[in-house]
Amino acid sequence: MFDVFKDDNENILNTYKRFNVALVSGKGSILKDINGKEYIDFNSGIGTNSFGLCDDEWVKAVVEQASTLQHTSNLYYSIPQVKVAKLLCEKTGMKKVFFSNSGAESNEGAIKAARKYSFDKYGEGRNEIITLENSFHGRTMATLSATGQDVFHQYFFPFVDGFKYAPANDIEALKNLITDKTCAIMIETVQGEGGVNALDAEYIKFIDNICKEKDIVFIVDEVQTGNGRCGYLYSYMEYDVHPNIVTTAKGIAGGLPMGAVLFDEKLENTLVYGQHGTTYGGNLVCASAAYSVLSRIDDEFLNHVKECRKIIDEELGSAKNVVSISGKGLMVGIEIAPHLKAADVVAKCIEGGVIPLTAKAKVRLLPPLNISFEDLKKGLNILKKALED
Ligand SMILES: *Cc1c(COP(=O)(O)O)cnc(C)c1O
Repeated sequence: MFDVFKDDNENILNTYKRFNVALVSGKGSILKDINGKEYIDFNSGIGTNSFGLCDDEWVKAVVEQASTLQHTSNLYYSIPQVKVAKLLCEKTGMKKVFFSNSGAESNEGAIKAARKYSFDKYGEGRNEIITLENSFHGRTMATLSATGQDVFHQYFFPFVDGFKYAPANDIEALKNLITDKTCAIMIETVQGEGGVNALDAEYIKFIDNICKEKDIVFIVDEVQTGNGRCGYLYSYMEYDVHPNIVTTAKGIAGGLPMGAVLFDEKLENTLVYGQHGTTYGGNLVCASAAYSVLSRIDDEFLNHVKECRKIIDEELGSAKNVVSISGKGLMVGIEIAPHLKAADVVAKCIEGGVIPLTAKAKVRLLPPLNISFEDLKKGLNILKKALED
C-alpha cells in the first residue's frame, strides 16, 4: 500500500523538516491537499510560482513546448532561450545572459565570472569576494562559502577560500574589508533566508560607487528578490545603481527550474567558449515558461504587487503580536512577539487554511505575485487569528 507520509520517510533522504501536508493540486492562489482540504498559498513554492498555480497562459506555454520539443542541449540555437535573453537585456540594459538551472548555479556562474574578470585584468591573487553576514547564496560548496552564516560552515571542510563577510548596512566595516585583493562584492538587496532584511538605500548606493571607483565587480543576487517579487522587475531597479552581474532563479520560470546570470558591458566577454556550461540550463520548456512569466511583468503587474503590499501593511500593522513588518513588495517578513514561535504560527496557519513560511524567527510571506486582493485578505485574516495567542 502506498502511503505518502510513511514511504517518504523510508525512501527520501531526511534533509527537510516537512510540514504534515501532502499537496496534490492547485489553481491560482489555492492549494489542495491529499484529503481535499484547501489552503491559500502564501508561499508560492518558496517564491517560484510567480503567476500562481497552474496559471492558464503559463500552462499553455509549457504544454505547447513540451509537446513540440522538450530539450536539445546548449549545442544548438534555441528560440525560447533567445526570446527570454532578448527580453531580459531590453528590460534591464544588461548585455548578455547565461542560463542555469537554479539560484546556486547562477551564483556559481557569477563567482566564476567575477574571478575571471579580475584574473584577466590584474592576474592571479586578486580574487576575494565580500558578501554580507546573514546572506544566503546557495548550497553548493562555493555558494555555501559565499553564504555569510556560520551554521552553513560546518562538516563539509574544506570550504572554498576567498570569501569575507561584512555586517550589513555598515559602510565603515565594508570599507575596512576592501583591499587590493577584493574582486567582487555580492549582496541581496533584501536578505531573504537571513530574515527578510532590506538593505539601506545609501548602503546599496555606496557599494555601487566603491565598486565603480575600484573596478570591483558588483554582483546582486536577485534569486529571491527578482522577477517582480519586490515590486520591480529586479529589486536593484528601485535604486540608482548599476550592478555588473545580476543573478536570478526562483520565480523566473513560474515554478520550473531555471536560473539566469545577467552580465553588463564590463563582463559580457569575460566567460567565453569552453569556460562555463550546463546540460539543462535554459531548457526549452523552462525557457518557454520564463518567457510567459517575464513578458507579463509590466508596470501594471508591478503596481499590483505594490498594492498588495499596502494591504498587507495595513492589515498586519495593527494586528496582535506583530512587532514589525520587513521586506519589500510581496517578500514579507513578520517579526512576531517573542513568546510566539514562527514554526508554531505557521502550523496554526496551515490548520486554519493558509500556508506561509518562516525566515529565522520571522513568519515569512511569499504569495503568488498575481494573488487577488480577496484571497490575500482571506489569508491575512487566518494569519491574524493564528497570531492572536
Ligand atoms: C534560494 C536562494 C538561493 C539558492 O537558490 P537554489 O535555486 O535553491 O539553488 C540563492 N540565493 C538566494 C538569495 C536565494 O534566496
